[in-house]
Amino acid sequence: MIDIGGAAFTGQPFPAGQPLRHCSLLRSDTAAFFAFQNVAKNLYRQGFLWETPGGPRRGIVVDVHVFLVKIGQDYVLVDVGAPGKQYEQILIAGLREAVKDGNLRWVILTHGHIDHVGALEALVKEYPQVQVAFHEAEAPFLTGDADYKDIPADNLNYATSRFDVSSALPASRVLLVRGTNGDVADARGPSGQKPAWPLPRGIITFHHGPGHAPGHVSYLHKPSGSLVAGDVFGNLGNPPKITLPPPVYTPNMTEARLSLVRVAELEFQKAFCAHDRVEGITKKDLQQFTESLNTNQ
Ligand SMILES: [Zn+2]
Ligand SMILES: [Zn+2]
Repeated sequence: MIDIGGAAFTGQPFPAGQPLRHCSLLRSDTAAFFAFQNVAKNLYRQGFLWETPGGPRRGIVVDVHVFLVKIGQDYVLVDVGAPGKQYEQILIAGLREAVKDGNLRWVILTHGHIDHVGALEALVKEYPQVQVAFHEAEAPFLTGDADYKDIPADNLNYATSRFDVSSALPASRVLLVRGTNGDVADARGPSGQKPAWPLPRGIITFHHGPGHAPGHVSYLHKPSGSLVAGDVFGNLGNPPKITLPPPVYTPNMTEARLSLVRVAELEFQKAFCAHDRVEGITKKDLQQFTESLNTNQ
């Protein structure tokens, strides 16, 4: 946790509604301020406040987190955060510091929503060798062949937040995971090609949990027993409260609920979602929430 004049970085660092561009004026040392923080063994997290640029939640400020897994001198980034110059700068500044003695090898995406993939082009420019892995069911949305707005929704609130990253994703860079779960090390290119850097097996597994997005996956970092959950649940508010992903960005709430119930049963100590106000939640707390969903059905 970093202190800026008594205000903690995690929790409520800035007055509600204060856009991030003001925050960057608070301190010129962006790299230190937005440094990746160690949240579990070999797992690091970077957080910032994102001002949503459009749609039904325009102007709302949301906590966004990305994660970094250390494997020896190599690193795997989970999600890249929001689009826009200031968010790209935050990510790149944090990464330059965090991986300065090693190599960023892979980016693994939980899904293709704007706040998770927005800085991808900037990232690929900075790290030209990086490979980008995601679930094959999410591939059409990331390569520009499908649009989230065309997904039939089971609720009337659904709106989309797509961001076109197709130009950052030539086939040679893409790796896909397939099926309901497995080892991320098994990701292969669209025509079956092997990755340039082989991710060791037994470190990160993926768990497909559709509903919020067709190819949404949560990642389990096995060495630390940490679930990097993506948007399969949220934990915002004051005080923070575990919730399902918001219907406004979730076409299929029924599937989303079932996915969360399954994910909560995985073997983990702590779960970290992308939109969080705390340093992760315990399995017990997440299961208590999913049990309440079952009884409310
Ligand atoms: Zn999302
Ligand atoms: Zn999100």
